[in-house]
Parts: sequence; C-alpha cells; structure tokens
Amino acid sequence: MDEFIKLLNQDYELVQYRIKDKAVIFNIQSSKKELTCPFCGSKSIWVHSIYQREIQDLPIQDRQVILLVDTRKMFCKNPDCLHKTFAEIHPFAAPRAKKTERLVKNIIHTSTQLSSLNASRLLKSENITACKSSICSLLKKNANHCG
Ligand SMILES: [Zn+2]
Repeated sequence: MDEFIKLLNQDYELVQYRIKDKAVIFNIQSSKKELTCPFCGSKSIWVHSIYQREIQDLPIQDRQVILLVDTRKMFCKNPDCLHKTFAEIHPFAAPRAKKTERLVKNIIHTSTQLSSLNASRLLKSENITACKSSICSLLKKNANHCG
C-alpha cells in the first residue's frame, strides 16, 4: 500500500490504513523534515503542532478513498517574516481543499461532458462525492461554463 501513496507523491508515506464501510482511509504523512515558509521562503524544522486534513482522492476498487494527511503547523523563526507560524502545504491538494488535484481534474473532465446534476450522479456511482454546487464552483474556478 505504501507504493500506492508513492504514486500520489514520492515524499509521502503510509502510516496506516483501514476500511470503513465503503471507504478506504489512508493516514499518510510527509517524510520531509524541513519545510519552507510560504511567506518568506525560510526553511524550518520547528514543529508547533500537528493536525489532520481530510482529503478525498480517486477511488480504488469501487471504494471511496479518504486521505487523512498529517499536517504540521510550523514555526517560522525568520525575525523579518510577518508570520510566526505557517501550515504545511501538500503538493497534491490546494490549501484548505477537500479534494486532491487529480480528483478535481477527474471531476472537471466528467462534468464538462454533462450537466452538473448528471455529473454528480455519475461520479456518485463511481464513489466520488461531489455535490452539484461543488462541481459548479470547480468549473467556475477553472473558467468553464456550469450547466
Ligand atoms: Zn516566514
């Protein structure tokens, strides 16, 4: 299963996984020790705290995939930086996004062929949760017409 996570990103590793109802839940974490402050570009190894982000990914074997991603809040110790802390950025999902970028691409691909209501139904049959309004906002962000 760790190979599966490496396909998502080389720097991430599997902590544990479990199957819950119709979903597979992967708890993953970055193996990078040093993170870069997005505000000033300084490197930091000082962890303030760790929380988990829940991010939906492409389904496997007809099961919805949920990534529980350990996300570090880091101290920035650059005295010239305006921020004392920053949150770890994961390369496979936008900040605060609830879906991976590859899942978003899949949803957009499906939705540009169909109305968003039919797209929502089709995605649901493939175990991807995306309601009509979230499809619309994804399409708008990507400058597509929402039908
Ligand atoms: Zn900084």
